[in-house]
Amino acid sequence: MNIEILTLFPGMCEAVLGESIIGRAQSLDLVRIRARNIRDYTKDKHRRTDDPPFGGGLGMVMQCQPIADCFRAVCDELGERPHFIYMSPQGKPLTQQRVKELAQLPSIALLCGHYEGVDERVIEALVDEEISVGDYVLTGGELPALVLTDAITRLLPGVLKADAAFIGESHWDGLLEQPHYTRPAVWEGMAVPEVLLSGNHALQEQWRREQQLERTRRKRPDLLE
Ligand code: SAH
Repeated sequence: MNIEILTLFPGMCEAVLGESIIGRAQSLDLVRIRARNIRDYTKDKHRRTDDPPFGGGLGMVMQCQPIADCFRAVCDELGERPHFIYMSPQGKPLTQQRVKELAQLPSIALLCGHYEGVDERVIEALVDEEISVGDYVLTGGELPALVLTDAITRLLPGVLKADAAFIGESHWDGLLEQPHYTRPAVWEGMAVPEVLLSGNHALQEQWRREQQLERTRRKRPDLLE
């Protein structure tokens, strides 16, 4: 899968994506992730990519031309038009279900806004979908793009060590996952649940299911509705 991140701050993305599971997935060629600098595509002689809003107001607005040309360069290089997503607090809140669907696509491009956001016309002309990481506002779309990139990449075949290790995790089937414990069996007087030491797999499976339901009821009752 190809994931293209269109940003004014590619360094923010590269620093995060080079590490840990996502870094390994890239070196194994299970995913190709590229952060592109929108500024490289501006035709402005001062290399500007933003301007004050028409009609007044605070902040700066990212201009259409550099974004559109950057996206068209991505299309040319990939030889196909990736599904184009604008990371935006006005988008649909991201869910595991949407992550599963996006992970099936051959390529996606993620537009990161900054400052006040981007000129509405480039969204109308080119963007397929707006996605939010929650009902709050950040300074830029880079962290949301990294969130989405991470959530998608870990579902790609071969990325997690055990295939399908993500099945049964929180939000996979609408429930939260059961609690986890590791050695020692007693820590500062607190013992792990007996059933986990019993070696009885059927009982353990039943315990996991009960815990999932109990936790979801207690922590996120809205998920059960
Ligand atoms: N003026 C805009 C917010 C701009 S925030 C408004 O009120 O709707 C600057 C940029 O950060 C946005 O263009 C977007 O790319 C990103 N961003 C901020 N909060 C976000 C969120 N919750 N989810 C996804 N992207 C977000």
